[in-house]
Amino acid sequence: MSSIDARRDELRANLSEVRSRIVQACRAANRAPQDVRLIAVTKFFPASDAALLAELGVTDLGESRDQEAAPKTADFAALSAQSVRWHFVGRLQTNKAKSVAGYADVIHSVDRPELLQPLVGGARRAGRASLGVLIQVSIDGDTERGGVIPAGVPALAADIEARDGLDLQGVMAIAPIDADPDQAFADLAGLSAMLIRQHPAATAISAGMSDDLEAAIRHGATHVRVGTALLGRRGQTFR
Ligand SMILES: *Cc1c(COP(=O)(O)O)cnc(C)c1O
Repeated sequence: MSSIDARRDELRANLSEVRSRIVQACRAANRAPQDVRLIAVTKFFPASDAALLAELGVTDLGESRDQEAAPKTADFAALSAQSVRWHFVGRLQTNKAKSVAGYADVIHSVDRPELLQPLVGGARRAGRASLGVLIQVSIDGDTERGGVIPAGVPALAADIEARDGLDLQGVMAIAPIDADPDQAFADLAGLSAMLIRQHPAATAISAGMSDDLEAAIRHGATHVRVGTALLGRRGQTFR
């Protein structure tokens, strides 16, 4: 068997496992599986893996660093006839925002007003009528890994809504390390409900990764961002 065929089989098996975890978590939470979108986070893995996942039916791919994502999204387009949505989920430097808005359809990590103008400019330059935006929240108020503090969400949301070309879609969080993910995702659900009162269309909740997607789905996640459980451990074959 060629190595590409072996890799396809491996990704197919992992995808099937992750999809069944999502279905089971939805069943336990009395939710419909189609209300939870799987984003395959392909960071550290090559464009060929992204193309195999798309071939296997994955419609949403995620990346977290512009230096890697910019060439990979272009390579993907050359390799694959599938159309996918690209999600940018990593910390966003202000000087990279314009570049990211060129290839990403949704930015999950918007956490400060300085990002908005370059995002608008990058989307416009790319001919993108509307760029999806999620507000990344730092649930425990420790902004080391990115995210606005919960009290900062309303002002940032209003700022996003005031810009032509940005479409406020909801909130995103990463569960704090060494904390109970259920508590963090319950807090995120509360913030989402508050946001929806002001911005009824901003219903997305991006939460949950390989280790905690069940907890996220219990608390209303609409998008789960899964890397390791689909692609394997990072830093073995690639960097
Ligand atoms: C890498 C990454 C993921 C995927 O994490 P896994 O634990 O590998 O599933 C999800 N979200 C963000 C923001 C990431 O950077």
